[in-house]
Amino acid sequence: MSTFLFDSIVFGPVRSRRLGASLGMNLLPPDRKVCSFNCVYCECGWTDSIDSDKLPSRGQVQAALEYKLKKMISGGEGLDVITFAGNGEPTLHPDFSGIIDDTIELRNTYFPNADIAVLSNATMLHRPDVVAALKRVDKNILKLDSAFEATINALNQPLIRFDLKNLVDRLMAFEGKLIIQSLFVRGSINGIPVDNTTPAEISAWLKLVDQIRPSEVMIYTIARDTPANDLKKLSEEELNGIAQKVEMLGIATQVSA
Ligand code: SF4
Repeated sequence: MSTFLFDSIVFGPVRSRRLGASLGMNLLPPDRKVCSFNCVYCECGWTDSIDSDKLPSRGQVQAALEYKLKKMISGGEGLDVITFAGNGEPTLHPDFSGIIDDTIELRNTYFPNADIAVLSNATMLHRPDVVAALKRVDKNILKLDSAFEATINALNQPLIRFDLKNLVDRLMAFEGKLIIQSLFVRGSINGIPVDNTTPAEISAWLKLVDQIRPSEVMIYTIARDTPANDLKKLSEEELNGIAQKVEMLGIATQVSA
């Protein structure tokens, strides 16, 4: 296992599997992972905690992003998207909403054609300020790996109270202004099998996707080392098979193998 952490607030730009030339934003500390989930497949490794007193301030984030965007302009670099991801869950930052406002302003000034994307595990949707901020970004990408709480408990290992029905209601409240991202994997965790790709899993997940009606579904599998070491990635063919079922619902998909 060789997972990694981002050591700065702004990183990249990198060519993202899903998003193009992407400048990453890390609102979590540089030396530890802070998240409300502890996904067995997380590329950042196991979660250290669900909060931290070492988060960068709103001012630090604004200054780091402006510095980088100016540098990219002077270097003639292009930018497709500014992506909030980093060492954990970005919406845990108490100033997430204000940081999104600053980012929109900077994007409009320096790269008006770039999108702003947030990759979130959707656990902070009980906070109205987080929901309002997610509605202001171009790509509001929210995680849903299974329609069964037992599978979510095994794969995502929530560290806070998790209620699937509440989550689905909150996802539906975006009225289609969201992208669902789902990671498919099979294997075992501490000797217990886990698999969100069985016919029963896919069928129940499709029903939820149909209920939520996102603008798009991003379908992917593991691509790098994971903290749990007995996980198997799916083939591109299998991922495409899942995508075809989503498209039959009239919902666009993007597959990353
Ligand atoms: S929600 Fe994202 S950052 Fe958090 S543990 Fe899962 S994959 Fe990692």
